[in-house]
Amino acid sequence: MWDFETDPEYQRDLDWVDAFVREEVEPLQYVLPHALDRTHPLWQALVPPLQQQVRERGLWATHLGPELGGPGHGQVKLALLNEILGRSPIAPLVFGCQAPDSGNAEILAHYGTEEHKARYLRPLLDGQMFSCFSMTEPQGGSDPKEFTCAAELDGDEWVINGEKWFSSNAKYADLIIAMVVTDPENPPYQRQSMLLVPADAPGLTIIRNVGHGFTREPGQGTHAYLRYDNVRVPAGNVLGGRGNAFVVAQTRLGGGRIHHAMRTVGMARHALELMLERAVSRRTQGELLSRKQLVQEMVADSWIDLEQFRLLVLRTAWKIDRYHDYKRVRGDISAVKAAMPGVLNRIASRALQVHGSLGITEEMPFMEMIANALHLGLADGPTEVHKVTLARTLLSQAKPAPGLFPTTHIPAQREAARAKYAEVIARHGGE
Ligand SMILES: Cc1cc2nc3c(=O)[nH]c(=O)nc-3n(C[C@H](O)[C@H](O)[C@H](O)COP(=O)(O)OP(=O)(O)OC[C@H]3O[C@@H](n4cnc5c(N)ncnc54)[C@H](O)[C@@H]3O)c2cc1C
Repeated sequence: MWDFETDPEYQRDLDWVDAFVREEVEPLQYVLPHALDRTHPLWQALVPPLQQQVRERGLWATHLGPELGGPGHGQVKLALLNEILGRSPIAPLVFGCQAPDSGNAEILAHYGTEEHKARYLRPLLDGQMFSCFSMTEPQGGSDPKEFTCAAELDGDEWVINGEKWFSSNAKYADLIIAMVVTDPENPPYQRQSMLLVPADAPGLTIIRNVGHGFTREPGQGTHAYLRYDNVRVPAGNVLGGRGNAFVVAQTRLGGGRIHHAMRTVGMARHALELMLERAVSRRTQGELLSRKQLVQEMVADSWIDLEQFRLLVLRTAWKIDRYHDYKRVRGDISAVKAAMPGVLNRIASRALQVHGSLGITEEMPFMEMIANALHLGLADGPTEVHKVTLARTLLSQAKPAPGLFPTTHIPAQREAARAKYAEVIARHGGE
């Protein structure tokens, strides 16, 4: 059954979220130094009361099933919610579903022991703890087989040595989930394990933090270049079993990618709203911009880009709810992931263009959105890799043609059609 309607009760929740995000959450980005810097007194004063309102409304951490204290709304409802939260960089935190914590919580819930869950999962879900996913290395990003950061067992402890690159939010994190080589003799995809590393473990240092291009002062970014120098963690801190890091990572990244896409719909919609507002406000050559056909084209193309993408995201979310198996929707998620940077980039660029010189300034959000689009084309795997994944999924289902020509070869199809209808043709005539 196909249905494009939101049930009225949930729509009331979404309407509440929309007003709450615009009025209460969006202003925070202009006063808080960083969404995750909970040591800041302003954060302490402003964020927990909003989180409490979300809890009371029953919308806290809705990506979680009831077994983990969430309402178990599923991915389609989460998509509709995330479309609204995507307007603000702080909103996901206020609703308890921010990256990378939501993905990290997912793998702790899936693979964690009772001890891991008590120590890390519960505080993460309650918003009392932040986490970081530490996988990429300076010498290996797209291809984790190149990773060298390694851990060796010494008695009942793992000793980790090496470097990681772009470990986002490490400076705010209490827990680092590190993907390290533990079994170098195994086949390539079974050489690594996920280790749970407390962020204050001796020997773990941030070499420096980097940010997006010109949008931040040097050293003020949130993506850490990390060094592990004889960092010791208990032998039991392996998540998901020794040599299973690839399997664990895929569980995490599948959800993470589609959640980014849901929020991207919100960001792109925000850009379109601003473009529309500008088009019906600004006059040039005696008429509104909205009267110019080339501006109308930008508006129309943006709506088409956005709605096509949104439907793909929603259908993928629906498939995840239906099959509960990320592997089965891997191609769909890769398609969404590959489409996402282009959609946001195109819509934000057009919105910038329609705003003229104002659009390029830091007084409008477009440059930040464009930087985000570029970020989305890299983080969680570059676009090229996702296109390859999708293409391989499709090609693996394709059947080779039986002979020299493709099965769609028109002369062969004509011959087959003539054979099929030979009797009718004989009765009624025809070439
Ligand atoms: C904003 C941001 C946040 C991030 N956060 C995290 C994080 O929290 N934790 C973490 O571990 N990592 C994180 N990353 C790192 C991210 O996962 C890597 O950037 C990504 O995996 C690509 O690795 P790389 O940057 O080393 O690029 P490389 O592997 O050097 O690839 C460079 C380019 O080569 C091309 N390429 C690569 N492989 C192929 C292929 N198979 N076919 C065709 N072309 C290819 C692509 O154009 C690609 O962009 C983050 C990245 C960004 C930008």
